[in-house]
Order: sequence, then C-alpha cells, then structure tokens
Amino acid sequence: MSQINVTEIFASHVFNDAVMKERLSKEVYASVKRAMQGGAALSVKDAKVVAEAMKNWAIEKGATHFTHWFQPMTGITAEKHDGFIDLGENGTAITKFSEKSLVRGESDASSFPTGGLRATFEARGYTVWDPTSYAFVKDGSLYIPTAFCSYGGEALDKKTPLLRSMESLNKEAMRILKLFGDTTTKRVLPTVGAEQEYFLIDKSVYEKRRDLIYCGRTLFGAPASKGQELDDHYCGAIKPRIAAFMKELDEELWKLGVYAKTKHNEVAPSQHELAPIFTTANVACDHNQLTMEIMKVVANRHGLVCLLHEKPFASVSGSGKHDNWSLSTDLGENLLEPGNSSATTARFLLFLVAIISAVDNNQDLLRLSVASNSNDHRLGASEAPPAIISVYLGENLEGILSGIENGTISEYYNKKDPSEIKLGISLLPSFANDSADRNRTSPIAFTGNKFEFRMVGSSENIACPNFILNTIVAEELSKIADQLEGVKDFNSKLNSVLQEKIRKHKRILFSGNNYSGAWQKEAARRGLLNLKTTAVALPKFTDAKNIALFKKHKVLTTNEIKSRLEVLLDNYVKHVKIEARTAIDMARKQIVPSLLGYQTFVIEAFMAKSRAGVPGKYKLEEDLIKKLSKLSDLFHDKLEKLAKDLSEMEKHTAIKLKADYCESVIIPSLNSLRACYDEIEPLLSEEFKPFPNYDDILYSVK
Ligand code: ADP
Ligand code: MG
Repeated sequence: MSQINVTEIFASHVFNDAVMKERLSKEVYASVKRAMQGGAALSVKDAKVVAEAMKNWAIEKGATHFTHWFQPMTGITAEKHDGFIDLGENGTAITKFSEKSLVRGESDASSFPTGGLRATFEARGYTVWDPTSYAFVKDGSLYIPTAFCSYGGEALDKKTPLLRSMESLNKEAMRILKLFGDTTTKRVLPTVGAEQEYFLIDKSVYEKRRDLIYCGRTLFGAPASKGQELDDHYCGAIKPRIAAFMKELDEELWKLGVYAKTKHNEVAPSQHELAPIFTTANVACDHNQLTMEIMKVVANRHGLVCLLHEKPFASVSGSGKHDNWSLSTDLGENLLEPGNSSATTARFLLFLVAIISAVDNNQDLLRLSVASNSNDHRLGASEAPPAIISVYLGENLEGILSGIENGTISEYYNKKDPSEIKLGISLLPSFANDSADRNRTSPIAFTGNKFEFRMVGSSENIACPNFILNTIVAEELSKIADQLEGVKDFNSKLNSVLQEKIRKHKRILFSGNNYSGAWQKEAARRGLLNLKTTAVALPKFTDAKNIALFKKHKVLTTNEIKSRLEVLLDNYVKHVKIEARTAIDMARKQIVPSLLGYQTFVIEAFMAKSRAGVPGKYKLEEDLIKKLSKLSDLFHDKLEKLAKDLSEMEKHTAIKLKADYCESVIIPSLNSLRACYDEIEPLLSEEFKPFPNYDDILYSVK
C-alpha cells in the first residue's frame, strides 16, 4: 500500500489560515482575521486583495470556476458555478474574480423554499460570504461558504440563524466569564463534533428498489432471517470493499480540511459510522454537509450506495447523528470541563445548571429541531431515544446537584483563595473518565466535558439543532447574568440561583433507561412533553414564548420563524406524499403482478397434479393458495384505501391541516399496506418476489 502523508494532504484544497498567512500581506491578513472573529467587515480594498489571492491559489489547484456555496431550506447544499474566464483584448481570454464576486452573489430565490418570505415582485436572493468558514477547491471550482438571504435581508437558509445564535451565545457567555474575573478571554464559541451514521449497500440491489431511490428508505419488506441479534456487526472487522470506501472517503475529506477521525461498523448489518474531531459549530455544520455529500460520491465510485435516511430498514437500528456540543473560549478552554480550581468548578456548575434549565424550558424547541418525516420512524423505535426530552448526568453529578439543592454543598468558590475547593468532595475534576459507563439511551447526555444530543437524524443539516441549543443556552446565561451582575456576595447569590434552578428543573434529569415503557409513564407524571410526531412538534415553533426568545437574541424575526415553519411543514407533507405515491406505484406495478403470478403458479401445480391423478390431499397447494388469496384481498383493500386517502388530501388547503392529515390518515394507511405485504413476502418464492428483499439488501456487500 502506498504511503499516505496525512499532514501533507490535510487541507491541501482549503484556503485556510496557513495559506492566507503565506499569500496575504500582514495587514490584509490581520483584517481578514478580524472579520473572521466577528469584527469589522473587510474594506473593499482588502477584499480585492483577498479575492485575487484566492483566485490565483484556486487556479493553481486546478479550479476554473468559483461558486457561492449555501444551505437553503431544502437541507442540502446549493451551488451555481461561474467561470473565472473573462474577455481579454483581441479575442483572448483572461481570468477575473472581483471582490464583489467574493463578497456577494445573486441567486434566483424563487426556486428555493422561502415559506412566503419572498414577495413575488422580488425574486432575488443574495448569498453573502461567511469569512468564518474557509473557502475550498472541489471538482475544479473554488467553493465560497455563504449565507443566503432575501432582498430584505431575511434568512432563507439554515446557516444564518446558526451564525446569529453564535453571536448571542458569545455575548451572554462573556458576561458570565466577566463575573468570574476573566479578563483574558475575548470570545466564547460553541464547539460541535457530529458523529455520522450511514448504511452502505450494493448499487445493483438499490437500483431495483424504487422506494430506496425516491424515498431513501424501504416502504415494504419483512425482516431478514438474520438481523442484528448476534451483535456481530458493531465494531466488527471491516470488509475489504467497505475499508476501501472508508479509506478514500477519509482522504477526500482530509483534503477539504475535515478532521475525519474515527470509523467503524455500527449495530445493524451494512451500517457504519464516521466521527470527526470537533470544531466551531458553523464550520462543523459545513463539514458535516460536505461529509454527507462526499460519502455519496465516493460510495458511487465503489459501486455502492450510501443511505443517510434515519430508518432505511424497519427491523434493524436506524441512523442518527450524535451532535456533541460544548463551549470553548478563544484560548481553547472547555467551559464544560470542571477544571481543577474552585473558580473553574463554580463556573462549570453554573454552565451545567444553565444548560439543564435551558433544556427543561425548551423541550418543545429541541424536539422540533430534529423533527422530520424520516426521523419520526427512528425516534422511540427502541434503538433510538424517545420523543421525550431528558438529560443524563450520571449518578455522581446528579448527587452533587442534589447536594447543592438541599444545602449540603454550598461553598464553591472562595475568592480569597481560588485554589481551595470547598465542595467537601473531590469528585468534580474526574468526570471525563466517567463517560465510559454512560447511559446510551438518553436523548441528551453529559459525557464528561460536553453534551451529546442524540436525537438528531442522520440526514439532517445540523444547523437547526445547534442554533436552537445555542439560543436556549444564551437565554439562560443571560437570565443568570442579570441575577448575578453587581451583587455584593457573589458566592451566596450564586448558591441561591443554582438552588432555585435545580429545584425548578430537576424533573428533566433522568439517568435510567429511556427505552422503557416505565419512563413514558414517569415522564408524563413529571409533566414532561412527549411530542411524538413532526406534525405535532413543528407548530410549537410559533408559540409566543419561542418567538420572543428568537427575537430577543436576534436569531430569527417573527416573519422568519413563520416562513420557516411553513417550509418545514411543506417539506414534511411532500415527503409523505412521495412515499404514498411510491408505495402505490410499487404495489400496482410490482407487488400485484408478483402475487398474481405466484398464485397462478400454485394453482397450476394443483391442477396439474389433479389432472395426472396424483394421490394425496394437496394440502401444501391448498393451504398456500388459501393464505395468498386471503392476503391478496386484504392487500387490495389497503391499496385502494391508500389511493383514496391520498386523493382526498387535496381537500385540505392549509399546510398545517395537510400535515395533520398526513400524520393521522396517510401514514397509518401506508403502514397498514406495508404490514400486509410484509406478511405476504415470506410466502412468495424466490422467483416471484417483486424486488430484492431485506436478506438481499442488508447482505449485498460481500
Ligand atoms: P463516542 O461518543 O462514540 O464514544 P467520542 O467520545 O470519541 O465518541 O466523541 C464523539 C465526538 O465528540 C467526536 O466527534 C469528538 O470530536 C466530539 N467531541 C469531543 N470533545 C468535544 C467538545 N469539547 N465539543 C464538541 N464535541 C466534542
Ligand atoms: Mg457517541
């Protein structure tokens, strides 16, 4: 095997800090850095220099085009490429890339979902350079990460609220750090590491399944003879074909500056995971979008298909994207690390309690941040967290919080002697080592020095869950700062603030088994929300409390929230509709002919025997034909019902009613048709099966 020099190929296609340092003057480099840290925007003069340097570098890397790269509400990325080519003198060509092209682009917003934000007379949308995420070269183009907004400056993408929420979180967290006498930290940033789960199957089986092609999941299919019961896939030996895919994927991602680090087989057959090293939230978001895209591209080169759907197969584990989230200072200090002084311990407890309160106060927002038709199939499906939000801290930490609540622990922070820990326990600094035996069923688990939000779906853009996490935590920090700023006895006020918050929000703490039925009951007793489906969760977005929250932190305006809800509901309805249409099509064109063919085959066998006067009771033939015939009738009724249900959907005009109709009528109808087919499938012969079954698909990669 030829040698791969990781350090050499890493970020070789990225216009990053090192490249800028090398290619820009000290002054221009300094102003780019200022812009990256949220300071003043680049001057036109400096932007000109940056654009020229970027162009020259990109051309050396083989680029002929540039594109603004953005994340519209479709959830996938969008790009429109322009050549560097321009007219030269006497019929020659030159290359050109102006500062205007770098900083701002124009795009026809009318073809992207805007939820009514775009007035019909103003179809233009603008892409605006996000200097905090590096530009890169891919497939012969220079990619410039951008935010996407309307003519009036309203956010039309996933990225803008994320960037805005980071500003608010920084502002409020800095207020807290000041309370602890911190004068060196200049900025606080959320850090994110998104572990990406995915399935890989052979292209040949994929191409025979219209449901996989159109919906990303199987709409029909009985369980395979062998599922995941032997636990033999998780972290098992990686097959050579998969290993080759993973190797190439790593290399492609490294070139683009993505710190791909861990790879392994996951629980279900054909399921795998990739985890990167964490980075700043908005960069992590861009990198995760790139990871998903490159996974698909590389899979294709290997004759494979990468499925990112949350639940491609009904009887085995689905795929999530564990969103590991923490807070870091610009000096690299993790604020969710208890540290080893009384000051850092007290600060840690404050942040911890703020996050717990934020989660309890905003269960609805966290739930809706991961709501989609595809994730509804996964959440609560016994291998994924339920739709009920709770926080896992582990026994030690829960014990410490109760100690604070009931007054047995009250001295956190001795300002006179900051090295002294007055907790009466010496446990705090060692949580990171505790994370091995953590609870894997929890939706939000504290894992030593970060929170792991496990409800996020594998196909989801992580911008939404992260802008919501950032905003709700910013709000709690803001409330705590209001209470603590200017008080005389800081320690005792901190103590009473923590006590009050723990008392009020401890109901959200749960370290038991989230998959159990007992938890559903207990959670209801505690008054926790259980927003089971997308159709129920999404409309909470426009609750007065939530509108006020996003407005206060300048993350979303009322109009932006309303339009976003419209887009999300519309997206949900469209996905359900596509599934219903695909199921009907597969039923009529593939399942029905198979069923008829096999029944004819069995009847002919019966008749042939009878004509030949073969002795016997023909039990096998009779039994089979009876079963098939009964199931055929049932299948027919269910198919006609789904077709009728789908046609009646149009009588609802409001999108919210359509979503409710999908949830209460279409989805149950789809499920019932599927259940009927799943009883039929095991009876069909190999020759008459309408499409590859779970055995064929889940074990398609040899
Ligand atoms: P697992 O949860 O599978 O045991 P790890 O503990 O190795 O995996 O971490 C999972 C992810 O958490 C990785 O992507 C890692 O980079 C990320 N992570 C670690 N520390 C932080 C942090 N401070 N902030 C955000 N993400 C983090
Ligand atoms: Mg994990």
